[in-house]
Amino acid sequence: MWSPLGATTEDGSIITGDTIDFVAAVRERPDPGTWRQANKPLHTLIPGFPYHPPALSAGAMTVWHARVLLPRNRRKEWQRSRTRSARGSGAFERRHPRPSGRRRSGVVSARRSESNTSNPTNRRSRTGTSATRRSQIWGGRVIDWSALSEQQRAMLRRVAMPDYTAWERQIRATGACANPIRVRGGRITVDASTGELLDAYHTDTEPLGYLLIPCGNRRAEVCPSCAEVYRYDAYQLIRAGLAGGKGVPESVALHPSLFVTLTAPSFGAVHAQHKETGKYGEPVRCRVRRDAPVCPHGVTMACNERHGQNDARVGQALCFDCYDYIGAVLFNAYAGDLWRRLSIYFGRELAKAVGLSRAALKRVARVSFVKVAEYQARGVVHFHAVVRIDGPDGPTTPPPDWATVDLVDTALRRAVAAVAIEVPDPYDQDRTRILRFGNRLDTQVIFADTATAAEGLSVRAVAGYIAKYATKAAEKAGSTPRRIKRVSDVDYLRLPKHAVRMIRTCLALAELPICEEMGLYRTAHMLGYRGHCTTKSRRYSTTFGALRSQRRAHREEQRRVRLGLPSLEGRQVILDTEWKFLRSGLSYGERALVDAIRRAQRAQRTAAISDGAP
Ligand SMILES: [Zn+2]
Ligand SMILES: [Zn+2]
Ligand SMILES: [Zn+2]
Repeated sequence: MWSPLGATTEDGSIITGDTIDFVAAVRERPDPGTWRQANKPLHTLIPGFPYHPPALSAGAMTVWHARVLLPRNRRKEWQRSRTRSARGSGAFERRHPRPSGRRRSGVVSARRSESNTSNPTNRRSRTGTSATRRSQIWGGRVIDWSALSEQQRAMLRRVAMPDYTAWERQIRATGACANPIRVRGGRITVDASTGELLDAYHTDTEPLGYLLIPCGNRRAEVCPSCAEVYRYDAYQLIRAGLAGGKGVPESVALHPSLFVTLTAPSFGAVHAQHKETGKYGEPVRCRVRRDAPVCPHGVTMACNERHGQNDARVGQALCFDCYDYIGAVLFNAYAGDLWRRLSIYFGRELAKAVGLSRAALKRVARVSFVKVAEYQARGVVHFHAVVRIDGPDGPTTPPPDWATVDLVDTALRRAVAAVAIEVPDPYDQDRTRILRFGNRLDTQVIFADTATAAEGLSVRAVAGYIAKYATKAAEKAGSTPRRIKRVSDVDYLRLPKHAVRMIRTCLALAELPICEEMGLYRTAHMLGYRGHCTTKSRRYSTTFGALRSQRRAHREEQRRVRLGLPSLEGRQVILDTEWKFLRSGLSYGERALVDAIRRAQRAQRTAAISDGAP
């Protein structure tokens, strides 16, 4: 295995072990502003020779910039040695060179057309022999190549490549990311005061010559693996704000907290799956009306069916022409603003309830929240939120005595009733539309200990519930996770009719100058909602960024211990990084392999959890 530059002795010289097989050019940059100009190599590290960096002038702005290089002749030699070790000899690589996808397909089609045109009589016998030739020996078994699906062939082709083992190791390290980013470059860590080289890494030392890093997308539809990590972080963040931990004191559990669900008003009748069930657990009928009116389009506004869990009709409008799509899109577009106003109104109502001015209230109490937007099946967002009252400095200070859950509940209900936004009707300048939350406001008290959870909700339930929606977006309402660039694209996406009408309404409204500031071109795939799915107030608990950097630091520490590198504790270090983006995503055959790796990793994790490991 390759290892970075190795350990440093007390006098600052670098001991290069025999595993070190690269040359590093160390450069000095006297001024960070001009370091690109001063990019001349000063010293060259040669394998096997100790390296003494020049003494640094005290107090001067001297920064080390080093780049680890693998000379071209060395690189070739190393690649050859890799191939030999992976396949026993270089013969495989010579027989199956790894061309770029386009060139290979070109070769194949040329060969095929040649056999078809120049030798038509021989065609049958040719395909016969090639079928036998195409059967490949795989793990001791002969696999009939022609019986495999296109995807299976692509997978096997990928597995047969000499770099597969190294590639799989890196994919595992990304947690089986569905859209990994390929980068090239390196990083060097230098002690700021002594100039001692603490760590050096370059992707040239990787068997692949590049590094795969996870995409970090939080949408489960885009990357299930990275979304899982995000969901885990969201869970930790919400939990910390309710029960303490991650820098939040445990006394926060005693602060009054409510779990709130804010729904949207109705925009027309839709097929529904009701929460309550019948006598035998069967779903209740969708919409029973004895004298149901018939709409101008001839649709009876009733539905006697029982829609189950996976019924595609749930959320679809009864009559697509009667449904108020403009109202639904406007609500989504202004839902974020409604929430923002609600938090202002809530503070006002709270101050009124305890007889303080808003400024006086701020001096004794602070409202913290975390909210997530969930798409209902009918394509409008509603919000789930945790609302908590703290002392003036957030979770570390106790809330005032008057702050009870009942008071919070009353103030919140008043605020929800009062909040409204008036917008001009897009198609009728003389009319205005008033946007507000729906009448149904659901609030539940959150309890830290599960013994009393019967009366309200437990912390775990709330954190799990909100985290679940943090990785979902408009897909739940039948939309697509990616941006829609053209109106004509909508037809090719094969979306449910209701979602198509929502998207088309977004794109039609986007054409109007009056709706320009709503940015509906950008948010059509989000059905008009332009806010973030998860938002939180500053003092709720920790941040996503803090959780991510904690995880990164932990991994780095593990690596340092594994490689026996000097600890960074108590040191001022200078990090010099240089990364170049190469490409992102996976090829056709790789995708199925990564899915399989992800399934295996998940099964391992679940097994570890049931065994009692953390
Ligand atoms: Zn990913
Ligand atoms: Zn129905
Ligand atoms: Zn109708």
